[in-house]
Amino acid sequence: MTQVEPKKLEGLMLGQMMQFPLLISSILDYAEKHYSDTEIISRRTEGDVHRYSYQECAKRSKQLAQSLENLGLKPSSRIGTLAWNGYRHLEIYYGVSGSGMICHTINPRLFADQIVYIINHANDEAIFFDTTFLSLVEGLAPQCPNVKHWICLIDEDQMPVSDKVSLLNYERLIKAESGQYIWPIFDENAASSLCYTSGTTGNPKGALYSHRTTLLHSYASALPNALNLSALDSIMPVVPMFHVNAWGIPYAALIVGARLVFPGAKLDGQSLYELFETEKVTMSAGVPTIWAGLINYVQTNNLKFSTFKSTVIGGSACPPAMMKTLQNMNIEVIHAWGMTEMSPLGTVARLNVKDLSKTKEQQQEVLQKQGRVLFGVDMKIVDSQGNSLPHDGVAFGDLHVKGAWIIDKYFKAEESALIDGWFPTGDVSNIDSEGNMQITDRSKDVIKSGGEWISSIDIENVVAGHPEVGMAACIAAFHPKWDERPLLVIERKPNSQLSQDQLKIDILEFLQGKVSKMWMPDDVVFVDKIPLTATGKMQKLKLRELFKDYKLPTI
Ligand code: AMP
Repeated sequence: MTQVEPKKLEGLMLGQMMQFPLLISSILDYAEKHYSDTEIISRRTEGDVHRYSYQECAKRSKQLAQSLENLGLKPSSRIGTLAWNGYRHLEIYYGVSGSGMICHTINPRLFADQIVYIINHANDEAIFFDTTFLSLVEGLAPQCPNVKHWICLIDEDQMPVSDKVSLLNYERLIKAESGQYIWPIFDENAASSLCYTSGTTGNPKGALYSHRTTLLHSYASALPNALNLSALDSIMPVVPMFHVNAWGIPYAALIVGARLVFPGAKLDGQSLYELFETEKVTMSAGVPTIWAGLINYVQTNNLKFSTFKSTVIGGSACPPAMMKTLQNMNIEVIHAWGMTEMSPLGTVARLNVKDLSKTKEQQQEVLQKQGRVLFGVDMKIVDSQGNSLPHDGVAFGDLHVKGAWIIDKYFKAEESALIDGWFPTGDVSNIDSEGNMQITDRSKDVIKSGGEWISSIDIENVVAGHPEVGMAACIAAFHPKWDERPLLVIERKPNSQLSQDQLKIDILEFLQGKVSKMWMPDDVVFVDKIPLTATGKMQKLKLRELFKDYKLPTI
């Protein structure tokens, strides 16, 4: 008989090693001791560039912890942030979690009523915010009665005044403290931070990370097979610190002693390029839409990068054309996949030893997939009955995951989110015999045409390589015979020359032979801008609503 459940053992002898809880404060302690001079550089809302060392960061984080306690905030109090990537946000990451409170990063790009919902659901007691968000805060405050302190992240002499909300100043607050503070020691399973998913339907849901899960995730993400971080790197996380803890970089960078460069609010191509060059950034991370803007700026102005060597791309599929363009600039693209519910890293596309004997094209195919799971995560694909499907690179199904830094329950949910111990990701994928996973769709974006599933991502990836296409979304349009057929929605590049009719013919020709006949879109339509979610993903739900009555020419 095959064993289905792991055996339970009793009477085991325990190891006799120290109890050393994996706490977020230990990361900062380590960085302070061993990389005290390493720099943290931030573009600030004040308009200048700020630089200091890990040592100063540690002192100010401790001052912050003292101020939080003096404000009457208690262990496990939720402390919100509405802030860009910067040194003060980093101090909040460490000062809040380190003192046993919970750092709740809020995405300011969400609709105001979603933010109100999130703040009240989390029961935030204090909110730190960048001045950019002052008017947002003035609107939120009357609707968030549990927030006792609104703390503005700005130099004292530039402190704004508000006749609507009573504000505290961050610098004034921490200046009053000595920084003589010893981080408390507590259970590593205590909650450390909270991040809500930017769900397109229903209310956002909170993923509540612990110190232990955050540390394990940081170790794993720094490894060579993952993000390959080291003390020789200058890392610029463009991915916001309000989006799944900037993919864990604010923790992993300190574990390896890397220099950190924070871009602040300016994320356009020119601002990013200038910072890459002036601060000699070697490594970065962000969603494809960010790189599209940067590449466009670099190409239009005939520029080159002098130090930028590698970047992580994730959050949505990295279009192969974008990967090629960056590779041609000698920038390695590390394609990664994950979710808010996974802290976020699950897989990273990396060559394995077997791949070394493959052709360049075959290697490129491996790198374009979403990749292999990290140690600490397991994955499987299942059919609609929950049966496991083979890992042959062909069969595709719902992707389920489990592991050391993956959600069990959403914050305040009664029930576990798991199915038989696995978390259903909502993504559809295949896994090949060498363990490389490839996402074909979000399950709600799959186009179901006459019993066949068409991968919208595969089609978008090809079309994104057309020289006149800025962004491409492939969505399901109603068809009386096939139920659904693919409709291509195109946002053109700003310098696109062809007429719409010509471009439509050109795109369909461009697709010929690159996808099967059955997958060829029935029509191509143009929009000024493809709507994006608060985390920079294409908002296909909105597009489907927009084109819900669209009559395909094939009907
Ligand atoms: P979020 O929780 O906002 O980070 O969104 C997670 C979702 O983003 C995943 O479930 C995927 O649908 C999508 N996603 C993340 N990374 C990738 C990737 N590399 N390729 C395709 N989809 C991705």
